[in-house]
Amino acid sequence: MSSNRQYSPYDNVIATIRSAAEILELEEKDYIVIMYPERELKVYFPVQMDDGSVRVFEGFRIQHSSARGPCKGGIRFHPDVDDDEVKALAAWMTFKCAVVGIPYGGAKGGVKVDPHALSHDELMRLTRRYTAAILPMIGPEQDIPAPDINTNGEIMGWIMDTYSVFKGHAIPGVVTGKPIDIGGSLGRSEATGRGVMITLREILKKMDIPAETVDVAVQGMGNVGGVAAKLVSEMGAKVVAVSDMSCGICKPDGLDIPDILKYLSTRGNLLKGYVADGIRRISNQELLALDVDVLVPAALENQITEENAADIRAKIIIEGANGPTTVGADAILHEKGVVVVPDILANAGGVIVSYFEWVQNIQSLFWGEDDINMTLNRILCNAIDEVFALHKEKSITLRTSAYVVALEKLVNARNARGLFP
Ligand code: NAD
Repeated sequence: MSSNRQYSPYDNVIATIRSAAEILELEEKDYIVIMYPERELKVYFPVQMDDGSVRVFEGFRIQHSSARGPCKGGIRFHPDVDDDEVKALAAWMTFKCAVVGIPYGGAKGGVKVDPHALSHDELMRLTRRYTAAILPMIGPEQDIPAPDINTNGEIMGWIMDTYSVFKGHAIPGVVTGKPIDIGGSLGRSEATGRGVMITLREILKKMDIPAETVDVAVQGMGNVGGVAAKLVSEMGAKVVAVSDMSCGICKPDGLDIPDILKYLSTRGNLLKGYVADGIRRISNQELLALDVDVLVPAALENQITEENAADIRAKIIIEGANGPTTVGADAILHEKGVVVVPDILANAGGVIVSYFEWVQNIQSLFWGEDDINMTLNRILCNAIDEVFALHKEKSITLRTSAYVVALEKLVNARNARGLFP
């Protein structure tokens, strides 16, 4: 399975914006600005490989909107990265920050590369040269990158260092998701998965379902899926299946998530070698179609499409990944009565704590982990309540409701600023 590029993620974004605009009875002129990214940068940059050869890589940084504040969004290293994907990811960041009410716009970056095929030194040189290439666009007041697929705290540290070297002094607020030693925030590495757990907990409460009675399947065991699986099982739910790019595993009476995470952290991050009593190997497609209560797609976009949506048996989908469900699949799931909690809400925990990290960097004042988790919980629960109430009031899907809440804030911000010149 790979990212399924027969579906354009940016077309998905436009379709969702249009349905939210209809509910708000907006004319196209009121929201047309939001349909386009503000600024796109495409770079080709050389990297010296360990064998002395030079390879040229393609990278992007796209700022979708700065209407509500500086642009914010992660950096992805993946062979499937392209302009359409980065544009969609940037737009989702705009809507995500708006729906949870943090003062940012949206951006995203990416490099077309398989980082698993690079040595550690090659990865560092690639990161530093990419940072230098996008340097005119980023900065703590302009555009603040963060981790995404295949990028992590160490890589954020290299970005912070490269930017700071160019500017001549340490500037921790240029990037979030950094190591704690250079201004990272407590709780950031777990924040997105924690947000997924909080979202599931709140939705189960609203649906009157005890957490202890639900079976969960998680696609993707990286930063988001791994932490989500751990926290969801600590909450009392039973995680019966997980997968990654190498394979899936399933055990009806519940997987030992701490044991799996320990294996992944020490054995190269792939599930394919993991063995334990009673587990059965499954494909990613089988995982998506398992007879579970809750499905958490936490890998790539376009995983639930018109082709497999009819096979989904989960009653609730919590979108840990960005854009895992296509517009066509969304309609099929709605028909089937599946409750889909959209990405811009369900995975907003990461950007919320990134915002705390940036605030701490600007103030040079650090918060305790309890304060961080408590404030994350408050901001996310408020947003979930607002989106859920509108979904009930207007009888619209949770996705449309989340976009309506976000679009209204974006249009208000645009109107308050007026149109230059
Ligand atoms: P990651 O690189 O840490 O993990 C990705 C996981 O997905 C890995 O387990 C990988 O093996 C698996 N995977 C990759 N390709 C796959 C495939 N074809 N089929 C099945 N599994 C596959 O990335 P992450 O940071 O956990 O991001 C996952 C998703 O969550 C992405 O959509 C990302 O945009 C989104 N997201 C991440 C954050 C964050 O803070 N890291 C925040 C919000 C949203």
